[in-house]
Amino acid sequence: MTYYDTIIIGGGPAGMMAAISSSFYGQKTLLIEKNKHLGKKLAGTGGGRCNVTNNGTLDDLLAGIPGNGRFLYSVFSQFDNHDIIHFFEENGVALKVEDHGRVFPTTDKSRTIIGALEGKIHELGGTVLTNTEVVSVKKIDDCFHIKSTDQSFTCGKLIVTTGGKSYPSTGSTGFGYDIARHFKLSVTPLEAAESPLLTDFPHKALQGISLDDVTLSYGKHHITHDLLFTHFGLSGPAALRLSSFVSGGEMAELDLLPQMTADDLLSYLIKKREKSIKNALKSLLPERLADFLVEDMPEKVKQLSPAQEAQLVDKIKRLPIKITGKMSLSKSFVTKGGVDLKEINPKTLESKKVPGLHFAGEVLDVNAHTGGFNITSALCTGWIAGSLHY
Ligand SMILES: Cc1cc2nc3c(=O)[nH]c(=O)nc-3n(C[C@H](O)[C@H](O)[C@H](O)COP(=O)(O)OP(=O)(O)OC[C@H]3O[C@@H](n4cnc5c(N)ncnc54)[C@H](O)[C@@H]3O)c2cc1C
Repeated sequence: MTYYDTIIIGGGPAGMMAAISSSFYGQKTLLIEKNKHLGKKLAGTGGGRCNVTNNGTLDDLLAGIPGNGRFLYSVFSQFDNHDIIHFFEENGVALKVEDHGRVFPTTDKSRTIIGALEGKIHELGGTVLTNTEVVSVKKIDDCFHIKSTDQSFTCGKLIVTTGGKSYPSTGSTGFGYDIARHFKLSVTPLEAAESPLLTDFPHKALQGISLDDVTLSYGKHHITHDLLFTHFGLSGPAALRLSSFVSGGEMAELDLLPQMTADDLLSYLIKKREKSIKNALKSLLPERLADFLVEDMPEKVKQLSPAQEAQLVDKIKRLPIKITGKMSLSKSFVTKGGVDLKEINPKTLESKKVPGLHFAGEVLDVNAHTGGFNITSALCTGWIAGSLHY
């Protein structure tokens, strides 16, 4: 049975970064991943381009992590999003910043990021074992005993980075919660977060249209971000963020042109009196959306009655959308809930009850918005869990 100083279960961003810091600190390190390749979920983020972090300030990070972001103060004081950016740049990965502070590799390819993380583990002497599923973990005296389907390992320090329960096809099936419960640590209730919304809106007509910086509102919640019409309803950051305030049955409103007031829009239409309504709207909105909005309207702007003008402006500024539900946990982007933070030392991410046992990434009761915030949390907590704290 081979002994390692540190074993890490789960090769997502948290596990890969934990393996890097553990190896960097001179620990004999093994990273175990059940998939054939590391970082399967990470590879799918940012539309397959890997939204590796967000370049915002500490306040931006905390606002982007509505689920217990404050727990990460101590983590971020040791290793934050700017350290992630330095890490990749020092390791030969050029990055670029896009809208809303989202950071991507300039190659627009996830494999650039995953290749850099994996390469660094090897460069520092860490061992990676893929195609290996851990099935049980025990602690006997000061030593953890880890069993996969056909091998056994022991270690002094165990880091659990098995992710949440969303998109289980990527490997995150919730095994880390079983480990926590085995050691009698509490796990807070698991719920879907960042869930696409189901609507009774005409999906076919609008499917595939994406909009930049529109405002989706429900009650006092107004979210201005990008939005995507899908075959089931709404996705994209605006819908995902609104999902934590709705459950189904609510009437939301969509402002398609939040940068213009209703009066601006009326003046614009008056200037375009001689044009067809479709043409007038095409310079403001995607063509298919304009077609949808002007159904049942006369052809030219000048043919609109004052009531129809007001109706059109209203549709653009306050398009009603009935939310009929939201996607389940397995089809949501993020898991809310996880290993109870009361159990965890925020400086080291070690269990207070079980010395040597650490947790990092989405397995913890931390959830963030898409846009690089979950990945920042995973990479930073991974680095801290793998570090030695003197
Ligand atoms: C479609 C999609 C898009 C997203 N987009 C964004 C985005 O733009 N920005 C953002 O910040 N976040 C995004 N997220 C969320 C983000 O990807 C996750 O929060 C992040 O990957 C969590 O990292 P992790 O390392 O904690 O866990 P994971 O990435 O889930 O990795 C856990 C790993 O553990 C392995 N594992 C589990 N059990 C075992 C076992 N028993 N033995 C061995 N290995 C095991 C799994 O196979 C998996 O590879 C997105 C998520 C999805 C699904």
